[in-house]
Amino acid sequence: MNGISHRSWIEIDLNALEENVRRIKARLPAGARYIAVVKADAYGHCLPQSVLRFMRGGADMFAVANMYEVSRIRELVCSKPVLVLSPILLGERKLVFEYDATPAISGEEEALDFDCLARERGRILDVHVKVDTGMGRYGVWHEKAVEFLRGLSGYKNLRLAGIFTHLSSADCDKSYTAEQIENFRRVVEDFGARDILIHMHASAGLNYLNGGSLRVNAVRVGLLQYGISPFGEGEKPFCDVLPVLSFKARISAVSETPRGRIASVSAGYADGVPMGFTEKSRVLVRGRECKILGASSLDETLVDVSSIDGVKGGDEVVFIGRQGGAEINIDSYSKWTRRIPWETMVSIPRRVEVVVV
Ligand SMILES: *Cc1c(COP(=O)(O)O)cnc(C)c1O
Repeated sequence: MNGISHRSWIEIDLNALEENVRRIKARLPAGARYIAVVKADAYGHCLPQSVLRFMRGGADMFAVANMYEVSRIRELVCSKPVLVLSPILLGERKLVFEYDATPAISGEEEALDFDCLARERGRILDVHVKVDTGMGRYGVWHEKAVEFLRGLSGYKNLRLAGIFTHLSSADCDKSYTAEQIENFRRVVEDFGARDILIHMHASAGLNYLNGGSLRVNAVRVGLLQYGISPFGEGEKPFCDVLPVLSFKARISAVSETPRGRIASVSAGYADGVPMGFTEKSRVLVRGRECKILGASSLDETLVDVSSIDGVKGGDEVVFIGRQGGAEINIDSYSKWTRRIPWETMVSIPRRVEVVVV
């Protein structure tokens, strides 16, 4: 760093990440595959550094959103399948062969195109079929899914390696989720799926893993492995996990003003600190909570340190994480900034240094 200290930085605790994967995996049914969802730079947790920890923790497979993300994993790991969850753009489809990716397909057009590309190359391509059981995004509508799945055997260069669905409301709507699970069960049973991966549970969905008559043999875990509950302070998550990401900055100046002792913090909206905070918003300074004052500016945020003695330039400020005995978790920070934890994690800009601990 040439003697320049960090003004704003995130700390990523890779031991905690690995431990979270291990804990979640230990609670899965015997033999179930762990698909680590690492889209969006592992939810802002630095894909290159974290990918080996996912494997050491027990990830059997990775899932990402697009071919660029596949290519980044393939720089490091060749031995694990990588599933592409989102539809692959026409111009990128030939890359699935170069990077050994597994596309998720949702209909005839994709099946036809991938089969044709595979035939041209003399290859057999593994695909997973995405079934829409009520999310209303992409995927074969569940009532049409069995017919589509049966038809796939006509594509000689495709091999069906998995069937999955996404539970859109597992964090908030039990009866809708039960309906989606039932729709998926019917598809899997009517089709008579054998020797392929069957998966539908993401972080919130894991709470539906036990009970119910549909046996899955894989899960897709995102949020929970990064140490965050999908339920906020409500329902208990599938298992206890450790926080992984902290977000910190420093006091850059302290001023005595008519409205109290105000400290300027060396992170603003160019560091991903949102402009808008609610009244309740706090940071930690010297292990104590301090109120955030007004909107952040591009480079700085102001906090009230009137009640804390000895605050001086260079002191560490915690937006997310622990200090002394106090803690601000991603969930609170996200609420104060009117975002969901997923958004908080992926909206940390490059200006913020990354410290892997
Ligand atoms: C992002 C994503 C996941 C991971 O969801 P979390 O709630 O973060 O665990 C799982 N499945 C699909 C299809 C996704 O797009």
